[in-house]
Amino acid sequence: MNKFSANHIAIPTILKVEPNALEHIGIYLKDCDFKKVVIYFGNGLIDMFGYRVLDALREANIEVLEYCELDTVDIDDIIDLAFGLPNSTQAVIGLGGGKVIDAAKYIGFLRKLPFISVPTSSSSDGFSSASASLIVNGRRNSVPARLAYGIIVDTAVIKSAPEKFLYSGIGDMISKITALYDWKFEEAHGAAQVNDFAFMIAKKAVNSFVRTPFHSVHDDLFLKELLDSLAMSGIANEIAGSSAPTSGGEHLISHALDKILEAPQLHGIQVGIATYLMSRVHDHRYQRVNTVFTDTGFWDYVATLNLNVEDYEKAIDLAPSIKPFRHTYLHEEEYRTLAKKILTEDDALKAVFHL
Ligand SMILES: [Zn+2]
Repeated sequence: MNKFSANHIAIPTILKVEPNALEHIGIYLKDCDFKKVVIYFGNGLIDMFGYRVLDALREANIEVLEYCELDTVDIDDIIDLAFGLPNSTQAVIGLGGGKVIDAAKYIGFLRKLPFISVPTSSSSDGFSSASASLIVNGRRNSVPARLAYGIIVDTAVIKSAPEKFLYSGIGDMISKITALYDWKFEEAHGAAQVNDFAFMIAKKAVNSFVRTPFHSVHDDLFLKELLDSLAMSGIANEIAGSSAPTSGGEHLISHALDKILEAPQLHGIQVGIATYLMSRVHDHRYQRVNTVFTDTGFWDYVATLNLNVEDYEKAIDLAPSIKPFRHTYLHEEEYRTLAKKILTEDDALKAVFHL
């Protein structure tokens, strides 16, 4: 992307993060003059949320042309679905976890239709990002798409999702600390140009999140902060025209784990562990990361996963090859060596890997 094209920034027209937002989805869409929509639900979610959402739309006189559950992120399936959409479709709604959000986002993108993102868990910032993680030729890849026209998050639903999704969201959110540090490093090595506004947005997002006082990760204020901050991160990417503000070396480790492991953990769980590791490598704000992970219970949760330290060592070695055109700390051998040393010597990480 050239440096001028980022001047046209798409921001979501609808942004609702509140309890019981699902009940008001019809009103929100009606306010934007949508009359005919298609909805994709995540696996098993029609039973859980379908009728509430369909009723809310019906009450607002919005016609649902088609709805179904979707359990594929294969680009070929998604292209078929996109070009099979009724021609009168005015918006595509994706409701569920990461997979259906990515699929519906790409269907909307292919048909140049507004996409309404309705995440039911907080597992990552995918609901607000401009790219979609799809299977292309048998491999998981990040494909450029467009930012959602609308983001509607029912925090009561998020609260009822299994805790691992909350921890994943916490891990993905706090990764902006190390992602931003890597971005500056990259710029210092002539491999990137930091967009100051995108940097500020992502930094404010993570700082607001880590400074939010809470008693429990289920506090309404804490959840709203988490989701709002994840949404802001997606917009930082849109401004920068790349994922650099929100994705540095810690994300490369997670992407590498996705390739190595038959059953990887949730994105933000892997990213969170790698964020702490990279904050130690950077020697920057690692106490803050540690405090958040201790206070939220993230560390306690990941200690139950029986993670293997060798997988993380391999992932560190593989990390630079995931994005060879970037220049994060992990693109230098010296820091990969340091990362592997910290992995087995740091007290918090030793507890995670039971060393
Ligand atoms: Zn992420």
